[in-house]
Amino acid sequence: MSDFAAGHDLNGGRVHGVVDYLRISITDRCNLRCRYCMPPEGVERKGHDDILTYEEITRFVRTAAGQGISRVRITGGEPLVRRRCVDLVAALAAIDGIGDLALTTNGILLADAAGGLAAAGLDRVNISIDSLDAGRYASLTRGGELAAAVNGLEAALAAGLEPVKVNVVILTGLVAELDGFMELVRVKPLHLRFIELMPVNSGPVPEDFMSGERLLRELGRRVELSPAPAPAGAGPARYFSFPGAAGTLGLISLGDHFCSRCNRLRLTADGRLRNCLFAEQEMDIRSLLEEGTSRLAAAIAAAVDGKRYDWRLCRRPHRRTMAQIGG
Ligand code: SAM
Ligand code: SF4
Repeated sequence: MSDFAAGHDLNGGRVHGVVDYLRISITDRCNLRCRYCMPPEGVERKGHDDILTYEEITRFVRTAAGQGISRVRITGGEPLVRRRCVDLVAALAAIDGIGDLALTTNGILLADAAGGLAAAGLDRVNISIDSLDAGRYASLTRGGELAAAVNGLEAALAAGLEPVKVNVVILTGLVAELDGFMELVRVKPLHLRFIELMPVNSGPVPEDFMSGERLLRELGRRVELSPAPAPAGAGPARYFSFPGAAGTLGLISLGDHFCSRCNRLRLTADGRLRNCLFAEQEMDIRSLLEEGTSRLAAAIAAAVDGKRYDWRLCRRPHRRTMAQIGG
């Protein structure tokens, strides 16, 4: 019996797209403490026995590929702090039916890892860099070193892990940095995505919250934006170009009602299958992994069927941070 309630079409009868995308968090741990994502002390450390092994994750993805999943993203926490992440990349890249394998990272450990990840079969990376000012970066990440993340970004481009997307969470302090970010996109073939801060936990909205629409107005004041085609593996972002830019700018905003186009499932590091970022409901798939493919396949199908396509209906105060769910 499924843990997921039956789904409902709550978007006025619109037809939803195919669910073909799986995000896997491989660890809750992180080498940064971004202040909108993690408490200063980090999250409770799970033991090795509590998190899925690479072998279990690979088995899950093999079954998911048979259920229509063709694109996989490895995330965290910070995926590169888990030992031998490259081995998981190689195992997932070898699965029939997985045509796009990506990784989301803060980039701190990427400079040394990028070449090996590309050689193991990773297609592309998203790198989160919220500030190009070393002091503001250190403050937002509670101690992170901007130079390490930028070296990671350069290494990703050099290794051909493209299209390289850079995630930037929108906070009011970003306005003073827009010229610098736009210069980056002018000279490098990057896809910069500004992400509206999402209410994943039930805590108060931070004082420096800023909407995606306001950010767009700020950008429009500086350059002439025109809609641009989405790069490979595009998710819920709207993309724009401006004259002379080598890359593009994107905006991810809850106001865009992207739920109706949601195409994804999520697997947490401790083996819980989720069908919405905001859902309280999740299914423990660890025991199913022991039982064989058909029960696991049925669980994945139930998760897809149970998608509600509206974050407001899924949202309940829940215990997990973004780092635990995988962003
Ligand atoms: N550690 C990796 C990184 O930072 O890229 C991967 C995990 S992180 C949870 C994935 C993405 O989620 C990052 O781009 C981060 O900025 C974003 N994120 C975290 N908390 C968020 C929130 N409350 N709202 C919007 N984005 C958030
Ligand atoms: Fe770590 Fe990524 Fe969360 Fe920052 S956003 S604390 S880098 S998991």
